[in-house]
Amino acid sequence: MKRIYNFSAGPATLPEEVLKQASEEMLNYKDSGMSVMEMSHRSKLYQAIIDEAEADLRKILNMPDNYKVLFVQGGATLQFAMIPMNLSKNKVYDFIHTGQWTKAARREAEIYGTVNVIASSEDKNFTYIPNLDNLSYSKDADYVYICENNTIFGTKYKKYPDVGNRILINDMSSCFLSEPIDVSKFGVIFAGAQKNVGPAGVAIVIVRDDLLENPTLPGTPTLMNYKVFAEKGSMHNTPPTYTIYICGLVFKWIIANGGLEGIQKRNEKKAALLYDYLDKSKMFKGTVEKDSRSLMNVCFKTDSEELDKLFVEEAKKVGLENLKGHRSVGGMRASIYNAMPLAGVEALVKFMAEFESKHL
Ligand SMILES: *Cc1c(COP(=O)(O)O)cnc(C)c1O
Repeated sequence: MKRIYNFSAGPATLPEEVLKQASEEMLNYKDSGMSVMEMSHRSKLYQAIIDEAEADLRKILNMPDNYKVLFVQGGATLQFAMIPMNLSKNKVYDFIHTGQWTKAARREAEIYGTVNVIASSEDKNFTYIPNLDNLSYSKDADYVYICENNTIFGTKYKKYPDVGNRILINDMSSCFLSEPIDVSKFGVIFAGAQKNVGPAGVAIVIVRDDLLENPTLPGTPTLMNYKVFAEKGSMHNTPPTYTIYICGLVFKWIIANGGLEGIQKRNEKKAALLYDYLDKSKMFKGTVEKDSRSLMNVCFKTDSEELDKLFVEEAKKVGLENLKGHRSVGGMRASIYNAMPLAGVEALVKFMAEFESKHL
């Protein structure tokens, strides 16, 4: 059996060690005679799985005790609504607009209140992160909202806006656990699992506990109330049990690979290899301003749409798959999340060089 190098933006490649362990435990988890999929979420055995996943995540992020970890279904997209439902006082929200995902979050927030866009990179098709100095925050804003890594456009914040004592919300879906972060800077961090930490089916939400005391908006369903998730250990109803189990295995894989410092080193090395090649290449060009480049989603183009198309087709023939860029950018995108091995990026760069010498 040959596995491909899968450059998909999500659902994305997972660590092979994790998939192997899951397959070994598939029919019989720890002598229970069952798969984790078949297990009651109220059993001791499953409680240990979710508790350990949370404990490992806290350890990886060096998470302060005044933060809660919630496992929520509905993906990152449901958070676009849950955040205003749970954190509204004045129903005014400040947004830094950096692409499709802040656009989608903004549309959802507008159902509940008023969005003020305090900075945007829309003028250059989101190829950079806006200047964060001297932002004028709304006086009565409930929070400031950012998306740290813009999966579609391939940009990433290199520092955070200085929001003072305002609440900062961060959609980290496509860069979660890719490098160390200071959790205490944020009111809420959230991430859909399927980019960097597991299969689709769960979003990990990290919320500062004082925010749980804020009353939810009228009409908020029970299953969209952060406090219910916090009080019930994410088990008011049946959680996505198997997805959480796999996330837990990925957390252990991160710890075994040097924690976030180790993961960051790997990620920087992979991204540097690809960007260095793009900077030298006469055929391929990175689409993003250099100081805004993502370590996770690398977007690039040739100056011909036909060549781009041919590149994606030819790459697929040699086991380098899912390199087509998002339709709003065109060209190519290589998503090189934590689980993409260095060998995958080396194979991609080698193939790009061959393609270039053949077609230039
Ligand atoms: C993929 C993605 C989302 C949407 O995630 P779903 O889990 O499909 O809802 C939101 N934000 C970012 C940054 C993403 O990359």
